This record gives sequence, structure tokens and C-alpha cells, in this order.
Amino acid sequence: MTEKFEVAASHGAALRLSKGQAVRLINTHGTQVVDCWAWNAADLSEHMSMETTRVWTQRLYPKVGDSFVTTKRRPILTVVEDTSPGIHDTTMAACDRHRYELLGVKSYHRNCLDNMMEAMRGIGLEPPVPILASFNVFMNIPVEPDGQSLATLPAVSKPGNYITLRAEMDCIVALSSCPQDIVKIQGADNVVRPFHYSILDRGFPDLPVTGPWVPAGVQA
Ligand SMILES: [Zn+2]
Repeated sequence: MTEKFEVAASHGAALRLSKGQAVRLINTHGTQVVDCWAWNAADLSEHMSMETTRVWTQRLYPKVGDSFVTTKRRPILTVVEDTSPGIHDTTMAACDRHRYELLGVKSYHRNCLDNMMEAMRGIGLEPPVPILASFNVFMNIPVEPDGQSLATLPAVSKPGNYITLRAEMDCIVALSSCPQDIVKIQGADNVVRPFHYSILDRGFPDLPVTGPWVPAGVQA
């Protein structure tokens, strides 16, 4: 029986993966957006990058078989399973205290960026820079029919849906139960809830790492 760890509502967690292991993010209640970051365990200045990943995959949102790459354009996590409808986001910044101030919150509001920093410090690590460009698992940000506007909609995943991310290098992964309770992203009732994760050595598809997109006719 694989151990499942709970991440409390509006809190974070950080974990270590060896190359070849995977983390399974389980949307226990189906409604929760989970922000995700990853760093090269040997060099925290190299981290998972949404910008370079979109160049690599030529997609806004990852599909099974897609790899996330780092600021040095090296694969770090590969999506090897996804039982959710496949709706995730790479475009929106993680929430931070400034976001909640702009939403009219007068006192401190828990937020994904602080959750990430708190979780990393909890395992004795200090990220060299704050990273707002998180992988927003289960977040529903479709492109509007005009091709340039974004909609912010409630998550559409179902209870127990999961996505499995395989490590392509020894890495650190941070996760946050997004505390956003003002903008309606957490399912129909917009209540922030816990989620679970498991660390796996096996029991997930052995998919190859897909190489970078290059234009037709270019010899890479
Ligand atoms: Zn958030």
C-alpha cells in the first residue's frame, strides 16, 4: 500500500524525488487547485520553468507524455498519467500577498508563494528566488474564442482524479493547496480543501521523454 500524505487546505509541502521516482498528486475532493514547483536537487538556481516548457512542448497546458523543462531547458518532470479531464494551467502566476491586497484583503491571507517558501524552509532549503510561474495543477484557465483572452473558471476535476509526474533528475518538488477563496477557481463552491500526494518507485507508465519542438526542416 502506497503511503498517501495529506497537504492541509491552504498549506504547502515539499518533497525530494530521485530520478525515476514519481509524485502522484491526488485531487481528493476534486475541486482543489494545486500549485507545483520543482528544482534541480543539486542546484536550486535551476528550476522548472513554465516559459521554457511552453517552448519545448508548444502547448499552453501539458498532456500525458509532455515534459516540463528547467531554466536550463532540461527535462525535470514528465506527465506520465492523468486521470483528470486534463485541464491544468501554466499561464497564471501563483497567488501571493500582493494578489490578495489587490483583491481587497486587508489582513494577511495565506498564499501559494508563501506556502512554497514555508514548505521549502521546512525541509531546510532556501529557494534563491521567489518563483511566481508555477504549474497550476487542476486549474481551469481556457483561452477564449478570440484566441487571446483568458477565462478563469472553477476546476473541473473529479474527486480522486490524479496526475503523476516522473522525475527526470534528482529534484525537489513543492506543492501548495491554493488558498484562493475570492476568485472562483476551486470547483463550484470555491472552498479551499486539502489534497494528497504519494511518492512512487513504480506502478506508473514507462513513457519516453519527448524532445524539444523544432520547426520543420531544422536539423536539431
Ligand atoms: Zn494560489
